[in-house]
Amino acid sequence: MANKWVYLFTEGNATMRNLLGGKGANLAEMTNLGLPVPQGFTITTEACTQYYEDGQKINDEIMGQIMDHINKMEEITGKKFGDKENPLLVSVRSGARASMPGMMDTILNLGLNEEVVEVLAEKSGNPRWAYDCYRRFIQMFSDVVMEVGKKYFEALIDEMKKDKGVKQDVELTAEDLKELANQFKAEYKAKIGEEFPSDPKVQLVEAIKAVFRSWDNPRANVYRRDNDIPYSWGTAVNVQMMAFGNMGDTSGTGVAFTRDPATGEKKLMGEFLMNAQGEDVVAGVRTPQHIDQLKQVMPEVYDEFVDICHKLEDHYRDMQDMEFTIENRKLYMLQTRNGKRTAFAALKIACDLVDEGMIDEAKAVSMIEPRNLDTLLHPTFDPEALKKATPIGKGLAASPGAASGQIVFTAEEAKEWADAGKKVVLVRLETSPEDIEGMKASQGILTVRGGMTSHAAVVARGMGTCCVSGVSEIVMDEENKQFELGGKTFHEGDVISFDGTTGNIYDGAIATREAQIAGEFGRIMSWADKYRRLKVRTNADTPADAKKARELGAEGIGLCRTEHMFFEGERIDAFREMICSDTVEDREKALEKILPVQQGDFEKLYEALEGNPVTIRFLDPPLHEFVPTEEAEIEKLAHTQGKSVAQIKAIIASLHEFNPMMGHRGLRLAVTYPEIAVMQTKAVIRAAINVAKVHPDWNLKPEIMIPLSSDAKELKFVKDIVVKTADEEIARAGSDIKYEVGTMIEIPRACLTADEIAKEAEFFCFGTNDLTQMTFGFSRDDAGKFLNAYYDKKIFENDPFAKLDQVGVGKLMKMAIELGKKARPELHVGICGEHGGDPSSVEFCHKIGLDYVSCSPFRVPIARLAAAQAAIAEKRN
Ligand code: ADP
Ligand code: MG
Ligand code: MG
Repeated sequence: MANKWVYLFTEGNATMRNLLGGKGANLAEMTNLGLPVPQGFTITTEACTQYYEDGQKINDEIMGQIMDHINKMEEITGKKFGDKENPLLVSVRSGARASMPGMMDTILNLGLNEEVVEVLAEKSGNPRWAYDCYRRFIQMFSDVVMEVGKKYFEALIDEMKKDKGVKQDVELTAEDLKELANQFKAEYKAKIGEEFPSDPKVQLVEAIKAVFRSWDNPRANVYRRDNDIPYSWGTAVNVQMMAFGNMGDTSGTGVAFTRDPATGEKKLMGEFLMNAQGEDVVAGVRTPQHIDQLKQVMPEVYDEFVDICHKLEDHYRDMQDMEFTIENRKLYMLQTRNGKRTAFAALKIACDLVDEGMIDEAKAVSMIEPRNLDTLLHPTFDPEALKKATPIGKGLAASPGAASGQIVFTAEEAKEWADAGKKVVLVRLETSPEDIEGMKASQGILTVRGGMTSHAAVVARGMGTCCVSGVSEIVMDEENKQFELGGKTFHEGDVISFDGTTGNIYDGAIATREAQIAGEFGRIMSWADKYRRLKVRTNADTPADAKKARELGAEGIGLCRTEHMFFEGERIDAFREMICSDTVEDREKALEKILPVQQGDFEKLYEALEGNPVTIRFLDPPLHEFVPTEEAEIEKLAHTQGKSVAQIKAIIASLHEFNPMMGHRGLRLAVTYPEIAVMQTKAVIRAAINVAKVHPDWNLKPEIMIPLSSDAKELKFVKDIVVKTADEEIARAGSDIKYEVGTMIEIPRACLTADEIAKEAEFFCFGTNDLTQMTFGFSRDDAGKFLNAYYDKKIFENDPFAKLDQVGVGKLMKMAIELGKKARPELHVGICGEHGGDPSSVEFCHKIGLDYVSCSPFRVPIARLAAAQAAIAEKRN
């Protein structure tokens, strides 16, 4: 049988989201539930993929099915495309598997032409409505299908309004709108060089293709990369009969959430506009009314809507985000989806749903987007500092958090300034989807126009960036890059602060404070801990970091980088002496100075971890990173070493490497200078013995990790030094402390020979930063220069340094674990690269049977949650 590429709304349901996209699947589900949904059909995501496979063409089979379904739709609705009696108008809407709000395109009122608009005007007795639809359609079609910028049409509207002496679009008359439609068509012809297409079927096919194309537009690509949505998924296209919110004062359109998406509070939240259509509500053109006011405006419609809200929430068992339109007092549902929400709201809603008996704890844990927790771990304003600050203005608290930074007025500048290391806040009249990268680069977003569901608000909440919207007190002068607020003029570069939780805006910078895990956050995390199998450790070099990580739930240190300890104060001097020594004796003398300092650091770490495991990695970076570059420092070193400046410079020059990341580093340093490993072993073992004396109940068992091994013999050489030194120290102290020696796995050869390596290592820890670099053969420090080209050309969808390459690097990891455990069944294995805190990578680590992941302190909660979700998903399957 031929493939089925098109489904009527009555043929689908919510479980078909992969095929029909989220919007299509839910339109079908709402239809099945008996809700008032304008009928139509969905062209599948597979048709989109096929369209790209066929070289951006809709093949005959798909086209045939689309045409069939137009006929079916005409039967169902009793209207016909281009009809002189009862013409059918439709919307053409994108809708991917995962919701990507505002990233792709929609066209409304399709099916209009010179004749049809006259029919509509006449038959309805509402010419204003007919021409309003027409001018909107021409504008949207031109913009979306032919890429004639919106701005040309907006300029014509503005001119018309000025001419007529009116402020708002709704004040324009039927005649004005008719004239506008003519101007729009002329504009189209001027820009495109052809007449505006009048055949509704041609319009439809072009619109469908445009929606397919919009899957590949730059902002959609950026959004997908940020949200881990594969390119291969494609978007579905929904063709739906129009419901008209622009028929006059008994019509309107709106959006609503069943719970507050900012706080999670259980109350209907949303906005509507009378005599409006589509994006009018979110575009911030007119200021919308709060959904509660619908009760006064149209009580029956309000009651019906509230009823539907309850029905939908009970059905989906999650907070719903809905779009609706009222056509002449008749309510239509146009969309429902699980609403985007702040991390804060996500936690509250999940806990509330458990308390309401709607879902169980496992479901609650699965509902939270791990990466969003990040926003809760970001700073808020220091309450003391905040008390002293006086607000200079107030807007809507659109996305919580605290922002403090220098003002910029465009998204491009936001990105440029942020790339240059500045903290910026983006201040705009309103934002649009093109601004997305600049918004991401900003500490916060402040907009003059727009409500809680404006583009800025929705996108900011999704990104977890602080946003205050609708600050109508601002007198904006975007052209001259300045604005007035609270009697003061602010220019580009001035510093302001604002609070996305209260909506308050302040002049100048305000100190911020770090977040804590408490309340609902604590509840969800404790549920997560019940389900996860993976342990979560942290990468921490200092007791302060370790303490922070422990507060966030870390169960040990998976990576303590000892080299960071060499940089402070006088240690660096001693270390440089060591590097510049000519003999082993001199080197040992210099290392003697470092030993007690390093031992002291380790003691403090053991204290801070209270008996939890601590993996200490021996010196890793190439030595040139430690030598001085400044003349005065070089002179100082020459003096202490009793050498000439020239001699020191010669030593420094000798450390130069053409390819330092593949150079004299890692355990290669211990092969050439075993005394370094001896000193570090002494420091670790002595520290552990000392702390164990005070806390015998902690059962301290130091874990010594040797970096960068690629060969079993090489590792054995260094391990033997460590073991000999450690055993001597333990015997001398009369202690019975146990310790482990393991290695980092960061070189493909180590994976390939993991059975050999495991004979010398009691544990493995994947250093996936280096392993990724070595496997791909490109530098993690320079890959940024060409990765963008790889994204553009669809070679890569993600940065392999941020999201583990499961296909290649992952295969090496699996091989290493298998070989390693064959040689040493009790081998324990972890990961301590950046990937240890990336949700999808954590899931992979769960699947391949790692014992723990280790990540930076602020990612610990993310890893805990991701690990729990991986375990829950595994059980479910
Ligand atoms: P997005 O995914 O960006 O939200 P939508 O496809 O939902 O895009 O459409 C954008 C707007 O157009 C929505 O506000 C919706 O209410 C309106 N709209 C879409 N289809 C129809 C329709 N058939 N009748 C009336 N309004 C519609
Ligand atoms: Mg929508
Ligand atoms: Mg490394």
